[in-house]
Amino acid sequence: MITRRPTRQIRVGDVPIGGGAPIAVQSMTNTDTADTERTLAQIAQLTAAGCDLIRVAVPDMAAAAAVKTIRASISIPLIADIHFDWRLAVAAVENGAQCIRINPGNIGGEKKLAKVVAAARAHRVPIRVGVNSGSIEKDLLRAHGYPTPENPKALIESALRNVRLVEELGWEEIKISIKSSDVLTTIAGYRQLAEKTDYPLHLGVTEAGGLIAGTVKSSVALGILLFDGIGDTFRISLTRDPVEEVRVGYELLRSLRIRERGPEMISCPTCGRTRIDLFPLAEAVEQHLQTMHTRLKVAVMGCVVNGPGEAREADIGIAGGHGVGIIFKKGKIIKKVPEERLLEVFLDELRKMEEESLSSSSSL
Ligand code: SF4
Repeated sequence: MITRRPTRQIRVGDVPIGGGAPIAVQSMTNTDTADTERTLAQIAQLTAAGCDLIRVAVPDMAAAAAVKTIRASISIPLIADIHFDWRLAVAAVENGAQCIRINPGNIGGEKKLAKVVAAARAHRVPIRVGVNSGSIEKDLLRAHGYPTPENPKALIESALRNVRLVEELGWEEIKISIKSSDVLTTIAGYRQLAEKTDYPLHLGVTEAGGLIAGTVKSSVALGILLFDGIGDTFRISLTRDPVEEVRVGYELLRSLRIRERGPEMISCPTCGRTRIDLFPLAEAVEQHLQTMHTRLKVAVMGCVVNGPGEAREADIGIAGGHGVGIIFKKGKIIKKVPEERLLEVFLDELRKMEEESLSSSSSL
């Protein structure tokens, strides 16, 4: 149903971006990059959650030096995020960053940009040209005004101008992002940008907010763009543990049937028929599902009246009764368990299903 916009393909480490490759889910660490122990611990959590590409901030030489240690100890490609100081970009590339995110307009002028691009070319490292609404060149603001949903032109012209600067320096391994904290400007901007370039696009809504506001804003903006076939990689920005960004990212891709990872949970909102303490049960099941890899549909329903029926398409599920819960598979009841043992028995069933699925896939 979704037809992806054709783009060139670049590679960030071993992850292809654009050109029909799976849409890559990114996140960014929020530790001090120079604190390699904490940064590596967070990257390990993000990798386990399915993060395809990880970005770290490089605000100083200690962080640029840490890139070497981090890169040597992780299994997903590393992107260095640099502002203002070209020397940090060069050092990050020399220390093994597999992509750099810069805003060519704020790296200190064309001579300094040339040094950054020369380093990227020498190490075959792609550049993400990232422009933000807040950092658009003054002449473009004068010509087009501050970007709005009706007229996002300044943002697009800024991105294309900066892309040309990099191209003129002989490097075309580029992806582009244009960031706004406004959902409608983001949608309008990327739609117009997509018509003007065939470079892969990195999507995101900047400063989106906490878990609820950030998830909604990012899902609306990115959901509409992805449905249009626009976008080759993205980050959901949340004022939260970055692991949540990756989880939200996969739920977004799953909801559009673009890409799936691990089990899917459906659960009812509860109502006056609920006779079981469903919220902690649902929470515990959801936590467990984060550790699973099998593609299952798992239902957690508040009552037996509608539970198994409403969740008939689920592979396995729970429906709460009065002090008991029933466990059903494919709409058929397989067990009735007292409420206090329901979670334990249900998790055992899930573990069995995961083992069966792993052993059947290993015997193929
Ligand atoms: S499954 Fe039962 S408890 Fe849950 S919302 Fe539907 S009717 Fe209410």
